[in-house]
Amino acid sequence: EVKVGGRQSYRFFTPSMNERAAARRRIEAELRQAMARNQLSLFYQPKVDATDGRIVGAEVLLRWYGPDGTERYPPEQFIAVAEDVGLIVPVGAWVLREACRQGDVWHQQEMGVPIAVNVSPLQFQHASFLAELEAVLADCSLDPALLELELTERTVMAGGDATIALLQRIKRCGVRLSLDDFGTGYCSLSYLKHFPVDALKIDRAFVRDVETDANTAAITQAIIAMARSLGKTVVAEGVENEAQAEYLRAAGCEQLQGFLYGAPMDANAFGKLLTEQHLLRWASEGGT
Ligand code: C2E
Ligand code: MG
Ligand code: MG
Ligand code: MG
Repeated sequence: EVKVGGRQSYRFFTPSMNERAAARRRIEAELRQAMARNQLSLFYQPKVDATDGRIVGAEVLLRWYGPDGTERYPPEQFIAVAEDVGLIVPVGAWVLREACRQGDVWHQQEMGVPIAVNVSPLQFQHASFLAELEAVLADCSLDPALLELELTERTVMAGGDATIALLQRIKRCGVRLSLDDFGTGYCSLSYLKHFPVDALKIDRAFVRDVETDANTAAITQAIIAMARSLGKTVVAEGVENEAQAEYLRAAGCEQLQGFLYGAPMDANAFGKLLTEQHLLRWASEGGT
């Protein structure tokens, strides 16, 4: 064990803590390189209409593949490091810009759906966030209504009145806002009325047990009913089987997202799905 600190403070680092710190430093250094070498990429996961299965949006999920084509680190791991060391600000700015560029391509092909970008607390609270968002929107022709920002309860609960003012300014840009992982934080349902968000995403933890656990079912139904009475769209995440989908549909959940409908996929694969859907609609409308 290594003893550090001044006279009054002794901290003891166990080898496993040292190893973890070293792993974080290694990921940080590699992440800086990966950004410079363009090794980060975006995947897209469909959100579908609960009643007819139509693709009504996509969530953008960050991926890191090495030059050998294998995943370098899972997102939860490298995003946590990026948040710790502040790299999430430039990484998040890149994600936003790249998602809007890609969304704009689909928009111009007339098959655009809202593209939802995850925004981490540090990125959201950073002084440059609003200016960055405005700049990205100005630099592309994407309809701002086709951009959605996913924020967690933790993010919106952190800053008090200043946060609500910022959310309102973001709304004035014309983008959509949603609360991610809803139900896991401390955002009570009564707080919801203060936040100008358009949608709630019910956390995967509820969806997993919704049709097998009575308490989970009761909470989920309450969230859906309350959200709908406040006029918010309800999205369920992590839908893996038809029983869960059926339960959520019956409870009034409007959009579903999960492996049942499609795992996150690269832009090329998602573009193909959008093209198929676009062609089907065109055919059903009597196009020749
Ligand atoms: P999240 O925003 O809640 O994203 C949903 C996660 O659930 C994704 O994990 C997705 O791949 C996974 N998922 C989707 N459907 C299913 C399902 O049916 N079953 C199961 N078991 N999992 C499902 P992923 O891509 O590993 O991302 C993990 C988290 O990392 C995200 O959670 C989000 O908090 C964060 N993240 C990902 N991309 C970004 C990003 O660009 N910026 C920021 N700030 N955070 C990101
Ligand atoms: Mg999300
Ligand atoms: Mg524009
Ligand atoms: Mg989520």
